[in-house]
Amino acid sequence: MSETLHIVGGGMAGSEAAWQAANMGVDVVIHEMRPHVGTFAHRTGDLAEMVCSNSFRSDDDEQNAVGLLHWEMRAAGGLIMAMADRHRLPAGGALAVDRDPFARSVTAHLMNHPKIIVQHTEITSLPEGGHWIIATGPLTSEGLGQAIAAETGAQALAFFDAIAPIVYHDSIDMSRAWMQSRYDKGDTEEERTAYLNCPMDRDQYEAFIDALLVAEKTEFHEGETAGYFDGCLPIEVMAERGRETLRHGPMKPVGLTNPHQPEIKPWAVVQLRRDNALGTLYNIVGFQTKMKYGAQTSVFRMIPGLENAQFARLGGIHRNTFINSPTLLDAQMRLRTRPHVRFAGQITGVEGYVESAAMGLLAGRLAAAEILGRALPRVPQDSAMGALIHHITGGAEARTFQPMNVNFGLFRPVEGFKGGRRGRIDRYRAYTDRAKAAWSGWLEAQIADDMSFAP
Ligand SMILES: Cc1cc2nc3c(=O)[nH]c(=O)nc-3n(C[C@H](O)[C@H](O)[C@H](O)COP(=O)(O)OP(=O)(O)OC[C@H]3O[C@@H](n4cnc5c(N)ncnc54)[C@H](O)[C@@H]3O)c2cc1C
Repeated sequence: MSETLHIVGGGMAGSEAAWQAANMGVDVVIHEMRPHVGTFAHRTGDLAEMVCSNSFRSDDDEQNAVGLLHWEMRAAGGLIMAMADRHRLPAGGALAVDRDPFARSVTAHLMNHPKIIVQHTEITSLPEGGHWIIATGPLTSEGLGQAIAAETGAQALAFFDAIAPIVYHDSIDMSRAWMQSRYDKGDTEEERTAYLNCPMDRDQYEAFIDALLVAEKTEFHEGETAGYFDGCLPIEVMAERGRETLRHGPMKPVGLTNPHQPEIKPWAVVQLRRDNALGTLYNIVGFQTKMKYGAQTSVFRMIPGLENAQFARLGGIHRNTFINSPTLLDAQMRLRTRPHVRFAGQITGVEGYVESAAMGLLAGRLAAAEILGRALPRVPQDSAMGALIHHITGGAEARTFQPMNVNFGLFRPVEGFKGGRRGRIDRYRAYTDRAKAAWSGWLEAQIADDMSFAP
């Protein structure tokens, strides 16, 4: 008999992790605190409850990174995708899900699995031994949150994400923007040119402030606001405090010279910073926001150089517990200081139902393989799964780490395909073809190694 795998949290990630590990022959206990202990967003005691929208987003596995993730999870016999497909609602190219039957079906499959036990208990400390996956999500209970903070250090655990928008580098107009660190600070050329700068004249700045002030904003959920103002003011709130506030804050124009117009001093400068090691993504520094997504796109495209910007993700401020995975986790999602504890799901710094379930799928397989004494081949970086796990466990900038959706900016470039708008269809197709081949190879290697994954 194998050792038991304990999974804390029966959400998207924990449910998928349990399914994968149990199908590999490992005994699993899911510890889920609901319905005895609730959260402000969950309504039921079901596993895999969708707390807000009922969409798994695009189901296009040729032109969309999240659709590709769907494909990879289906290929791996994923329970979350199988039940989403079973309870699919008409929604064009998106995968919308009938949420209550979906959660009930996931729950029934897990409860009826001979290798899985579900216990409705809250876990409030980090385990000393055994095999564990922590998949407690964005609303991790307070007791466990404190235990994680005590282990990782308070700096490495966030209770809110204050996300600045992230832009694809190849959609920025470099005939208007330029690379320069403030006062050319830095010992190397790379450091001296670490920031991408977009200049504004006075009229552009005033129009931008007007747009910020009238833009539609989202409201906080009830119970969500505690602690939010700690150093992460939304830009529109800064603008409300005074028209000059941003010009003296994240948009200050000092220490910078625009090489395209060296004789003209910009009135304000928007700075972007590299967001991944590949250099394909840049975040807009200090631009966390509660503006609605539609408003963000039009307001941010007012910034010179970003007129045609494509966004890998838009900004937001949410209640969200997540760890600084790039510094805390190894490539197998194990806590470096306690390798018997893995993390999975949104708490690792991915964002969304699909991404969370995907990281649960990987954690479940990795943990089960470890328990069974089998070495899994490294998750291929060119798959969507691999691009995500690589991002959170090493590819992302640890200093500015914020939760991330899957997107093509996380993928290594494909030889022979140029960036930019033109050729995007062919480029995305090349990404998804390459990913499917890599992922299929990874799965086949496990079957060849005599591992069974009956869905
Ligand atoms: C208000 C809100 C709205 C959201 N809207 C969307 C959306 O529209 N679309 C989207 O894709 N994503 C959305 N998300 C993110 C979404 O929650 C995640 O993408 C996804 O549910 C994360 O999966 P998970 O398994 O990591 O966490 P969850 O699905 O939240 O599962 C974690 C589970 O752990 C349990 N738990 C917590 N602490 C403990 C403990 N100490 N002991 C035992 N059990 C515990 C919880 O009860 C929960 O069941 C939203 C999040 C929030 C907070």
